[in-house]
Amino acid sequence: MRKAAPYIAGLAVVVVLTVLAYQSGPRRRPIDPLPLKGGDERDNRAIGEIDLEKLYPGLVLRSSKGPEKIVALTFDDGPDKVYTPQVLDILREKGVRATFFLIGSRVDEDPDVAKRIAEEGHSIGNHSYSHPKLTKASPLLAQELERTKEALARLGISDNGFFRPPYGAAEPSLIEQAADLGYRVAMWSIDSLDWRGLSRTEVIRNIQGYVEPGSVILQHSAGGPGEDLSGSVLAVRDIIDLLTAQGYRFVTLPEMFPSPEKCSGS
Ligand SMILES: [Zn+2]
Repeated sequence: MRKAAPYIAGLAVVVVLTVLAYQSGPRRRPIDPLPLKGGDERDNRAIGEIDLEKLYPGLVLRSSKGPEKIVALTFDDGPDKVYTPQVLDILREKGVRATFFLIGSRVDEDPDVAKRIAEEGHSIGNHSYSHPKLTKASPLLAQELERTKEALARLGISDNGFFRPPYGAAEPSLIEQAADLGYRVAMWSIDSLDWRGLSRTEVIRNIQGYVEPGSVILQHSAGGPGEDLSGSVLAVRDIIDLLTAQGYRFVTLPEMFPSPEKCSGS
């Protein structure tokens, strides 16, 4: 991963394929866009996501490009009984609405917290039912998305039509399958890395210096066994205050990326 040669070779392949894809028409979905098979570049998430965003415009979303000073806070892996309610308390106190990518099995475990997220005006996206690392198209993806949709529907909640792949793992075949199932794929442009149990200061540092108009920030509102998100929760209030002072407004993902049907009337 740290060797330069495969990295450069991978980048060259990506550039060439991107150019070829665009020559055949920028809006057309390429048939076989990326040979993401093996090689070190496969693990380079930065290259992969930027390229996929270009290859699937409007379908793979990482950030809205300025000039409006808007930013989206997103929280993955909830709900839970510990951290999600703390995040909700801060958002309520600040009058900020965010987007929560919920895991369906956890919705079944903590339905009251899931309901609270919806009742307090936040947007809820689909983060699969059991958080598998799928990467490629699979019959399992359809099941995972549907089971979560059903878990939410039992609470009277509709998901927002955005799917965030667990671990951000997404190759073209998975993106196309998600699209066929009616979902747009929501990535992020700023990773707080909060799941590493970082302190409040570290989480703020991972976010603050990187924000630009249209940024999508990734944090977590629940973790695996033993994962400590207390620093991340504490950072939420500071992030909101710092960005508000810089003139940013907080929006949900459906607000940042209106669905194409809603745009087409203009
Ligand atoms: Zn996750």
